[in-house]
Amino acid sequence: MQDKDKLLEQFKNLIVNFSPKDKEIILNAVKFAEKCHKGQLRASGEEYIIHPISVAVNLLNMRADVEMIIAGLLHDVVEDSPVTYEDVAKIYGKNVANLVDGVTKISKLKASNKTEQNAETIRKMLFAMIKDIRVIIIKFADKLHNMQTLEYLPKEKIKRIANETLDIYAPLAGRIGMGIIKNDLENLALKSLKPDIYNIIDDYIVKNEMNIETTLDEITKVIKCKLGKKEIPFAIKSRPKHYYSIYKKMQKYDKKIDEIFDLFGIRIITDTIDNCYYIFGIVHSIWMPIPGRFKDYISSPKHNGYRSLHTTVLVEKRKAVEIQIRTEDMDEVNEYGVAAHWFYKKDSAPNVEDFDWLKNLMEFNKENLSWEDYYNAIRDDILKEEIYIFTPKGDIVELPKGSTPLDFAFKIHTDIGYRCKGAKANGAIVSLNTELNNGDIVDILTGNKPNVKPSWLAYVKTNHAKRKIKYSLSQINQESQFTKKKDAKEELKEDIKDKNIANERKFQIKKVKSPKITVEIDGERNLLFNFAKCCNPSPKDDIIGFVSRGRGIIIHKADCKSLKNIKDFENRKIEVNWTE
Ligand code: MN
Repeated sequence: MQDKDKLLEQFKNLIVNFSPKDKEIILNAVKFAEKCHKGQLRASGEEYIIHPISVAVNLLNMRADVEMIIAGLLHDVVEDSPVTYEDVAKIYGKNVANLVDGVTKISKLKASNKTEQNAETIRKMLFAMIKDIRVIIIKFADKLHNMQTLEYLPKEKIKRIANETLDIYAPLAGRIGMGIIKNDLENLALKSLKPDIYNIIDDYIVKNEMNIETTLDEITKVIKCKLGKKEIPFAIKSRPKHYYSIYKKMQKYDKKIDEIFDLFGIRIITDTIDNCYYIFGIVHSIWMPIPGRFKDYISSPKHNGYRSLHTTVLVEKRKAVEIQIRTEDMDEVNEYGVAAHWFYKKDSAPNVEDFDWLKNLMEFNKENLSWEDYYNAIRDDILKEEIYIFTPKGDIVELPKGSTPLDFAFKIHTDIGYRCKGAKANGAIVSLNTELNNGDIVDILTGNKPNVKPSWLAYVKTNHAKRKIKYSLSQINQESQFTKKKDAKEELKEDIKDKNIANERKFQIKKVKSPKITVEIDGERNLLFNFAKCCNPSPKDDIIGFVSRGRGIIIHKADCKSLKNIKDFENRKIEVNWTE
């Protein structure tokens, strides 16, 4: 339970640097909200006003402006009291009223059930967000406080709200580059859905914090020494990886917490981009980098604006540590996001053209989808972790993780999807249901006529492609019913043709089915590795990796005799696993 007076004090401290005029309006909004919610209680039994003030505190921590703070204080008044949009507009202006309206739920009367009500509320909010990005920031502040106080609700409701947070709000925060909010929301959802696992992770992290401090001191000392007289300012800090990502790793690779090696990340902050690369060079010259783990998000930033250098190196006792190197400015943007920039622009609408996913969102908003299709499309097509696929000409196409060549074909153009006959990935023929990898170059082979088959529905991942295929199949059905009546002979011919096609397909699937054996290192798959010629391991053998200089990771049988002769093997060995 929160103490209202303490909370108010905290709130007032946070607005201390606002102008006297702004302060007056804000405090007036507190009183207004208090009056509106008078007599109402939260599920926790607290006075309702605790909630909007907490939301405003969250907003202040996200560097929000005055209009957002007022909207945060009033965000529930239209829903929960007789106050209307017009009332808010009259007192606090149209902008504030629009912000409040964007986060107000669709009324129960307009929806036939609870799920529809939620989906429609999300649709409305995303509409409003495209016009004014601040809507979604207020919703995040609201969600954060609700997630912190979830325990007072019935179990079923907790589950629904936590899942919705994982489906929609956390990925959305990631998309606009608000890394801190994404992590907080995911951690809170984990705490609500799997309290046992959350506690196991938490205990382990607390116990191991001391160890990482020692590693940190060691690293700082070594870098300082190497820099010598060169005056490069740098600060170094560590923080635990966020619990939700640790949980996902444990789940994906069926591992216990003490088997996950990078629980802590180390961050080095310096002053200029040149010095980022300089320090990076030093780090690599002292410790052995793990091949394939180096990422340069400074020269090619992530789509949400994230910039940093990432590398994983083996420090003392072959412990792998991820190190991120960045400037102070980058650090700020990485945590509070591109969104932070939008706040300060006069026109607070993001430039839709700059963001593929916003363009897609606009398309979905235009299409007249049922609430169920809409929710699924947002969750699976827009907010899922994305991969980038290249056309043969080098254009980049963004798709949700798990997409296949058919998804790619439909994303390029509906007609290319319909006429798709086959596909090549990186020059080799692949089946249409192959899962594509980030960075693949995909070439779609097309025929002159549409080639849509019912089996395609199982091949695609995106709802977009699914809808197009369903539509085409329904057209074909209508046509074929017509021709059936017309000509029975033709039908027979069609039948034979169909069977041939089916055979052909079976053959194709067979051809590509032989599994591609590869190895993974702590869940990373696309790493450079070679099999050792001395022992030539095959998938039945126990294996171990050796981090070579310049030739990637060399995979040996765990009991290979030549390991004894490799100088420095103990310091440079690394755990590897087979994967299909
Ligand atoms: Mn609320």
